[in-house]
Amino acid sequence: MGQKILVVEDNELNLKLFCDLLRAHRYEAEPVRDGREAVARARAFGPDLIVMDIQMPHISGLELIEQLKADAELRGVPIMAVTAYAAKGDEERIREAGAEGYVSKPISVVRFVEAVRALLAAPRPVEPETEDEAEVRVTRRFAAPAEAVFDAWLDPATVGDWLFRTAEGALIRSEVHPDVGGRYEIVERRGEEEVLHTGRYEAIERPERLVFTLAVPLYSEREERVTVAVAAAEEGCTLTLTQTRAPDAPVSAEQIARGWAALLDALADRLEQGGEEQR
Ligand code: MN
Repeated sequence: MGQKILVVEDNELNLKLFCDLLRAHRYEAEPVRDGREAVARARAFGPDLIVMDIQMPHISGLELIEQLKADAELRGVPIMAVTAYAAKGDEERIREAGAEGYVSKPISVVRFVEAVRALLAAPRPVEPETEDEAEVRVTRRFAAPAEAVFDAWLDPATVGDWLFRTAEGALIRSEVHPDVGGRYEIVERRGEEEVLHTGRYEAIERPERLVFTLAVPLYSEREERVTVAVAAAEEGCTLTLTQTRAPDAPVSAEQIARGWAALLDALADRLEQGGEEQR
């Protein structure tokens, strides 16, 4: 059965258009005409994604997004806002309210479906149950085959371009010895600081499982363990990353999950670009 998408839209024609379109792509679409019902309906339906109109009577989509993102049970569900606003700054306001995606009306059918697909594929940080939970887990789907995703972690020539990299940092050094027992060192300059990420490979089982230790001496003396599990899927693969976390770690489980989610996004971008060049 397809993934579940709740569609909140007061305009009957748009509501039908969105639901028909989603069903044609084999999603399970659930229409909601009255925004005042949206939160209760979301709780009952358990959607994987919410498509949210912004201009509605009684309650605006912006308010609803804020309500959904304040709800412990529902805040992990990605929201794609659909709006006729064209004014500058509107997209920013919608994103500030917490929506993960945004498309403007009149919608392009192709862009709408692509945006839905991208949001459903994006990694979702798993909410930690307690602040001192021992593990952090992030899952992401990739369009690339499992082998390509796996190999990207160990390629000495390219891994330094994305792994442990930040947008504002500059790569200083990347050294990778991709054998069990081998070490890696990736050094990035972030402002005044040089940040070393280093560790040792504990298991390399291509393309399913990679285990390595991770230390960032600048921030912590502790060594964590990262497990990357890659499962081939019908189109592409699904990657699940698990990292241990000390209860007294200086960064929260959520920050760690967000960091990994951003790195996995960067990896997906690289793999997609590479795929296009080969075509
Ligand atoms: Mn409307």
